[in-house]
Amino acid sequence: MPTTKKPDRRGGKITPKSNTIKLKFDTSWSYAPAPESKSAATIKPQYDLFINGEWVKPASNKYFDTINPANEEKISQVSEANTADVDKAVKAARNAYEKVWKKISPKERAKYVFRIARMIQERARELAIIESLDGGKPIRESRDFDVPTAANHFFYYAGWADKLEYAFPNRNTEPLGVAGQIIPWNFPLLMAAWKIAPALATGNTVVLKPAETTPLTALKLAEIIQESGLPNGVVNIVTGAGATGAAIVNHPDINKIAFTGSTDVGKIIQRAIAGTHKKVTLELGGKAANIIFEDAPLDQAVEGVINGIYFNQGHVCCAGSRLYVQESVAKQVIRKLRDRIESLIVGDPLDKNTDIGAINSRQQLETIHKYLKIGKEEGAEMYQSSCSLPGKGFWCRPTIFTNVAQSARIAQEEIFGPVLAILTFRTDDEVIEKANNSPYGLSAGVWTDKGSKIFNMTKRMRAGVIWANTFNKFDPSSPFGGYKESGFGREGGLHGLSAYVSLTN
Ligand code: ADP
Repeated sequence: MPTTKKPDRRGGKITPKSNTIKLKFDTSWSYAPAPESKSAATIKPQYDLFINGEWVKPASNKYFDTINPANEEKISQVSEANTADVDKAVKAARNAYEKVWKKISPKERAKYVFRIARMIQERARELAIIESLDGGKPIRESRDFDVPTAANHFFYYAGWADKLEYAFPNRNTEPLGVAGQIIPWNFPLLMAAWKIAPALATGNTVVLKPAETTPLTALKLAEIIQESGLPNGVVNIVTGAGATGAAIVNHPDINKIAFTGSTDVGKIIQRAIAGTHKKVTLELGGKAANIIFEDAPLDQAVEGVINGIYFNQGHVCCAGSRLYVQESVAKQVIRKLRDRIESLIVGDPLDKNTDIGAINSRQQLETIHKYLKIGKEEGAEMYQSSCSLPGKGFWCRPTIFTNVAQSARIAQEEIFGPVLAILTFRTDDEVIEKANNSPYGLSAGVWTDKGSKIFNMTKRMRAGVIWANTFNKFDPSSPFGGYKESGFGREGGLHGLSAYVSLTN
């Protein structure tokens, strides 16, 4: 048995204790700063609206700042589109639809979508830097996940554009027309790709609005679209807050609304379009149950939990924010999780060693703090990593709540931060009932070494996506979407195509 302490690969120490080897993470251990240079990204000081293939000033001439949540400094300012601007964008999209896009051959459509995919790949570094600057997520996530997955969605749907008769055998497919697309701040570029790629591949034109706190990668995408030579007006990108989104939703010449965001706004949208001809898909909130059985590979499961809730600051609607652990292994799992969150690096989103970046906005940080207070008042036990936080910007330490009741608000409501509520269970039936006892049903996870148990759980759990022995894995060919208050309609895969066509026979 060695007597000296050796660093493990994450910077923890192997501490000999009687006959066991215990991993104990040393919080003083840190990497030298390794920030990505901002010089690879070109950001204009001011952005106009991208309408009909051109940059046009907003009718109101109003602009608002977009800031870096890691230091609260202004990065750029973007236009505030009003109803007149939205109307202009919808008219451009309608004109492009009638005169060009619905007439162009599917093969030609595919060429443009492929071209956009390749250009995203070519400018991946710049896009990743801007995503991390504007949204606060670690560069490792934007570089290795968001941007490549966005490109993959364009590649995937480009492949379908001229094969729709195979996607929908013996059916006639017609595009819907003009799609109004409204996206949130957690995956700005990826959500734009999820929405624009299938719309274009099926022959629709688009008016897209990014979230007010993260507009920059969508505007970069507008530059790419302009350079790609896509016919004018096929994609229009307008910036603004809720009022701009509402102007898109309420515009009479929109045929389809695709929305990702909060359940509250999803309900407003559903009410607004009730009784109109508009089609809709809604991808709303979530409170994913991640379930660890006693027979699971526990270290792997703990890593999956960490990936599911802490990387990305918990800013994921499918985040595994409710952890159910089988009672017999609960102590062990909680100890491992506490050790592991001590080792997470919170800080500069542009540093490649950062695990947890900045919270997206002051408002979101306040929401998280509200829930930390609620959790303590509800009698749960809170544990936070002891890491230090930067002086400026919006930050939250990775947090664990134990002794959480099923009815607790922190177990029922979406927090959208690096906050994990841990509950325990004894039997399969009990945990299925508890996992399903939620207004949401977007995603879930199961950790066990028994295939039969996985099938039993996935059959009975009401969630759109259920990961088994992994978490937060995405592929353009798999559909994603929810049950209950998590919305309806699917994005990704063939299901994502069908949301943009009408089948006429
Ligand atoms: P989140 O809580 O994730 O920010 P929101 O639902 O508030 O979710 O925002 C998601 C997107 O919806 C953003 O682009 C936002 O500007 C837009 N939005 C907010 N309110 C409305 C509304 N009433 N109608 C249409 N879009 C809206």
